[in-house]
Amino acid sequence: MNPFTRNPKPETRNSSFLFPNPQSAIRNFSLAAALLLLCLFAPSNLQAQPDQGGVFRQSRILMGTSAEISVSRATPKKAEDALEAAFQEVERINVLMSHYRPDSEVSRITRFAGKREIRVSPETLEVIERSLYFSRLSEGAFDITIGPIFRLWNFREGKIPDDQSLRENLKRVDYRKVRVDRAASSVFLEDSGMELDLGAIAKGHAVDLACAVLQKKGMEGFLVKLGGEIKAHGEKGPGVPWIVGIQHPRLPSELLAKLQVRNAAIATSGDYEKFFLQGGERYHHILNPSTGMPAQECQSVTILAPRSMDADALATTVFVLGPRKGFSLIEKLPGVHAVIVDRRGSVLTSPGWPAGVLLPP
Ligand code: ADP
Ligand code: MG
Repeated sequence: MNPFTRNPKPETRNSSFLFPNPQSAIRNFSLAAALLLLCLFAPSNLQAQPDQGGVFRQSRILMGTSAEISVSRATPKKAEDALEAAFQEVERINVLMSHYRPDSEVSRITRFAGKREIRVSPETLEVIERSLYFSRLSEGAFDITIGPIFRLWNFREGKIPDDQSLRENLKRVDYRKVRVDRAASSVFLEDSGMELDLGAIAKGHAVDLACAVLQKKGMEGFLVKLGGEIKAHGEKGPGVPWIVGIQHPRLPSELLAKLQVRNAAIATSGDYEKFFLQGGERYHHILNPSTGMPAQECQSVTILAPRSMDADALATTVFVLGPRKGFSLIEKLPGVHAVIVDRRGSVLTSPGWPAGVLLPP
């Protein structure tokens, strides 16, 4: 359902599919030849082209969501090369951390729950360690062992799990039973039946790493967007900052506000992403790990932070904690700010919210 792509389907094209019968084979051959000629003699349009503002932009579906990367102030060749490398970096993280892929490191950790520790990459180790940090900080409002509970919910079909299954599976949710051995770069889930779900943090980390790739490729201005995770670097143009919209949680085609950012990450978690309505209640995908039910105190939470991984995890964390506890947690973290739309639809900003960042829609 949520995070990240399932195993990609292998290419199924073969020659009999291309040429089902001799006549159409000839037709297809002429078509192919015409296309080839067109490509050879058309002005070279294969290279990335900037928009009127000089920004190169590309979108793909990655990690089960839409990924969009924009690069400013670069030559077409360099922009194209950097964009490709950044998208590949996102897919690399997907392969390591998607719990939908049986071959991912995260799936291996789950498969060996209660049995033995699993050696993982530094990337996976970092995400899990940071997750546990936010779990401790929020006393369990953020919990990557939410897997057994999250699996019970079916937002597409609008099914509420029964009490019995919720009660049983809640016993298997406990971040304190994730053992990380940094020296050995290994992770162990203490009880069998535990399941990891990095859906609330891995996309953020992928954005940070894609940005690092763009910087290594010499890009100076760029914006990376992966679903609700966004990070901006430098400027869109000389003296022109990147502007990011925050979606209105109840009016899908409207913005609640705009944010003007230079070097910062922005993450939004909302109850409008995956949800169903039943009996006047909204059931959505951000769960309170102590009850197994959707968190009730917010409609959306937007976090501004230096790192995208932190912004991602904190958007989910603050959503579960609600405005009062959420803001008091944010206050302890340098450079981190929040905009909360509470359950009644009031827009609240954290006490130290920086001037000039929030703009009207
Ligand atoms: P999105 O995936 O829409 O960006 P979030 O970043 O808020 O949304 O992450 C929600 C996802 O995180 C859920 O789909 C689920 O996989 C997982 N999740 C839900 N509740 C929690 C929680 N309390 N702590 C950690 N992960 C959670
Ligand atoms: Mg999140």
